[in-house]
Amino acid sequence: MKGKKEKTNTITIPDEEHSIEIFRNIRWSEGVYCPKCHSFHVEKRGPQGRIHRYQCKNCNNNFSDFTNTIFHKSQVPLGIMIYILFNMKNKNTITLSKETGLTRQTIYRIKKIFNKQKQEKTNKKKSQTH
Ligand SMILES: [Zn+2]
Repeated sequence: MKGKKEKTNTITIPDEEHSIEIFRNIRWSEGVYCPKCHSFHVEKRGPQGRIHRYQCKNCNNNFSDFTNTIFHKSQVPLGIMIYILFNMKNKNTITLSKETGLTRQTIYRIKKIFNKQKQEKTNKKKSQTH
């Protein structure tokens, strides 16, 4: 269907606070590490709003939960991002577009970035094993 998609169906979008928690669990599933040097030797600097800030004890890099992620710059609410992340395997782009009110292009872009991040993570794991 073409045209404006202003209607969103009744879907459960996690609220912002809950979404950040989910996101943190996904991103730091192996522990918080420095995005720059990949050291796990990091210190928590306390919250900045709802996100946490960290400092790398190895290279002194300051970073937050969102550093180097799509959430850093994206204008799409985090809850919707999480929703897409959780549903992208069993729902296609058109369905997700209808449900969230985002354009198909945006959904496609989000999916692509998530897939890319997953791949990078897998590659990282592979290079770590001896
Ligand atoms: Zn570092």
